Amino acid sequence: MNIVLFGPPGVGKGTQGIQLSEALGIVQIAMGDLLRAAVKDGTVLGIKAKSFMDAGKLVPDNVVIGMIEERITAADAEAGFLLDGFPRNVAQAEALALMLDEHGLKIERVVFMSAPESMLLERLSGRLICKACGFGFHRHYSPPREEGCCDQCSGELYQRDDDREEVIVQRLSVYQEQTQPLLDYYSNSNGFSKIDAAGEVQDVYKKLEKVVQG
Ligand code: AMP
Repeated sequence: MNIVLFGPPGVGKGTQGIQLSEALGIVQIAMGDLLRAAVKDGTVLGIKAKSFMDAGKLVPDNVVIGMIEERITAADAEAGFLLDGFPRNVAQAEALALMLDEHGLKIERVVFMSAPESMLLERLSGRLICKACGFGFHRHYSPPREEGCCDQCSGELYQRDDDREEVIVQRLSVYQEQTQPLLDYYSNSNGFSKIDAAGEVQDVYKKLEKVVQG
């Protein structure tokens, strides 16, 4: 099964997407993770992307569209994939539809996740991520047992550069302007659902599972 998860930054796409993709035996493809890996590796695309990411802006479409095409056509995506953070605007959604068509693929489920903006701000500004395994914590809501240290692998925890308050505000405004219009784009398509993602992780997961199995 191929799935698109979309919604504002901080709504929990990553957390829910990992759990769902593992349950379904498909790969989770998070655009932000692909870009952060390219930045870390110092690739040409990573160097291009960095300034946009640091400023909380969208990386140009031609960069992300090429990266996604390469990823969804890789051997490990044959059993299915879950896209998190792509598409993020209507031009990307149109490019995705075209490339899927060309490769004889289709999206079976599109799930929109929502939560109030005050909650998104709180979630993002308290977020801590493990440098080694990528597991996520929150300073107040799900703190690690030992400060600065991952419960899963003892890796070092860090705050993403773009999880600083001024960048979060910019990311939320980019979301409103560019990503929110995807709701209109997808709302009449087959397999579209919306879920309220303001609750506890496991409660949100149950809703997600239900609409995906729908
Ligand atoms: P995320 O990890 O999903 O919060 O993404 C982090 C950053 O990566 C975003 O703020 C953008 O700068 C960039 N990014 C992620 N996905 C996309 C996309 N589909 N299009 C353009 N830029 C993206």
